[in-house]
Amino acid sequence: MGFAVNILTRSLNVFHLGGSACNNCDIEILDTLTPRYDLERFGITLVGSIRHADVLLVSGIFNKKAAVRLKRVYQQAPRPIFVVAIGSCACTGNMFQKSYNWDVPLDQYIPVDIYLPGCPPKPEAMIMAILKLVNKLRGAPPDASAGKSRAAKQKRGA
Ligand code: SF4
Repeated sequence: MGFAVNILTRSLNVFHLGGSACNNCDIEILDTLTPRYDLERFGITLVGSIRHADVLLVSGIFNKKAAVRLKRVYQQAPRPIFVVAIGSCACTGNMFQKSYNWDVPLDQYIPVDIYLPGCPPKPEAMIMAILKLVNKLRGAPPDASAGKSRAAKQKRGA
């Protein structure tokens, strides 16, 4: 997988697009950049333009009007682009499903590669989701580290 090689020999660029909702997910995304979580230590950086992105993080909900812009941003992304739905709103519509301001789930507007539910998900979970995406690109099973620790335990006879 040529793209996987490229992606792992340089920083992973992530663009965040927030829809409507309470915006707490957006605040948690910013938390991943603080010295406490330091997302950049993994070579993952937030970029200001979708044209420089490998990954599109989407939070919140999108009504029909906002969905036009969502689709436009997705179309402007360089290919391939990977989409991560951050938070229960982006994954399912959450508490807004019966709202006049919600139409259909995100994956009916654009393809989604990883779903990270939570209201909001913790910064650790967001970092884990992005690292799982990197593993997916490498072709490793998503629970490769769990498999290794299981194998080590079996070796020790635990
Ligand atoms: S998932 Fe929860 S925290 Fe995130 S935007 Fe929706 S309501 Fe807010």
